[in-house]
Amino acid sequence: MTPMADLTARNTLGFTVTANHAVSIGHPDEIAPALTQAKASNETWRVLGGGSNAVLPNQLDGLTMLMDIQGIAILNSDSDSDSISTQIEVGAGVNWHELVQWTLQNDLPGLENLALIPGTVGAAPIQNIGAYGVEIKSFIQEVQAYDTKNEKWVSLNNQDCAFSYRHSVFKNDLSRYIISKVIFALPKQWTPRIGYADLQQYFAGQATDTMTPDAIFSAVCAIRQRKLPDPRLLGNVGSFFQNPIISNESLKKLQQQYPQIVAYREGADQHKLAAGWLIDACGLKGYRHQHVGVHDQHALVLVHYGGGDARELLELANLIQAKVFERFGIQLQIEPIIF
Ligand SMILES: Cc1cc2nc3c(=O)[nH]c(=O)nc-3n(C[C@H](O)[C@H](O)[C@H](O)COP(=O)(O)OP(=O)(O)OC[C@H]3O[C@@H](n4cnc5c(N)ncnc54)[C@H](O)[C@@H]3O)c2cc1C
Repeated sequence: MTPMADLTARNTLGFTVTANHAVSIGHPDEIAPALTQAKASNETWRVLGGGSNAVLPNQLDGLTMLMDIQGIAILNSDSDSDSISTQIEVGAGVNWHELVQWTLQNDLPGLENLALIPGTVGAAPIQNIGAYGVEIKSFIQEVQAYDTKNEKWVSLNNQDCAFSYRHSVFKNDLSRYIISKVIFALPKQWTPRIGYADLQQYFAGQATDTMTPDAIFSAVCAIRQRKLPDPRLLGNVGSFFQNPIISNESLKKLQQQYPQIVAYREGADQHKLAAGWLIDACGLKGYRHQHVGVHDQHALVLVHYGGGDARELLELANLIQAKVFERFGIQLQIEPIIF
């Protein structure tokens, strides 16, 4: 147990954060005793992965569990040749991008569209991470977690996780499950997914049957590096707002006034709007509020220039929400977790 811990390097916004008590969880067996101790001392508690989807206050009271459980193991045996997928069991503290690289190095493609997403494997199911036309829900077979409500270990299958856009059963009650391991099923039959506009453009003219997982991985990395600010250079948590999903009728009404509005079909009855477009249309791209601001190239990303804190960032978020609501009648939902 570390009495005080500086978590400035463990949140990608780069806010100066001090935790009262921080404990590194390197093995699932350490979770229950840490919780028991926190309860006995009447401490509040929370879990932190890489801090890339978290807005932390300057001071974190109580216990902060840093999820550092490592390990990647292939579960199928060589004789299991009938199986249509390869199962891999991965510790919650494994770095997400390093897992993607490991799968490709081991000839287990599938996760390449999700390259370069910061953070840990244990956090990936929480908001059903997604990028470039793929969501992690397509690859999760099982999540192993400690159920703090019933004080027992549970195993949730894909359906139990109730995944949807940037959501899951875990997000319904963030203090209930502490994820220790995730089991992925990677289909042995690989299908390239390059339907997303940026990837289509990148591979323009190239036949799908000449595509390789490594080529898609490199494309995704190149596109992300071009479009998104690197948190090591400019603090951020990626997209700050979810893309709002609205009915086809609401979209039609908006299109009458704003013919340029950017929307993507979401099932038969709905469309997903580009939240970045809405923010940009309010004239807020590049807008600065004290030590934080709206990125000057990507309006969906809020950035920290140094010396700021969660209070300033949330003031900016509120201002953006108010402007977008005033103009479009749409309430933007914040994507990261506010602690
Ligand atoms: C530059 C940048 C780009 C990004 N791009 C994307 C993107 O394309 N798509 C996308 O979906 N996200 C994206 N994100 C957001 C973020 O990377 C993901 O949400 C990631 O999964 C968060 O992982 P983390 O370990 O940092 O979680 P944290 O920020 O540490 O935690 C997030 C939440 O998960 C909980 N949590 C973490 N680990 C566990 C665990 N083991 N058990 C239970 N609860 C846990 C925390 O308590 C918290 O509520 C981006 C972020 C950045 C900075």
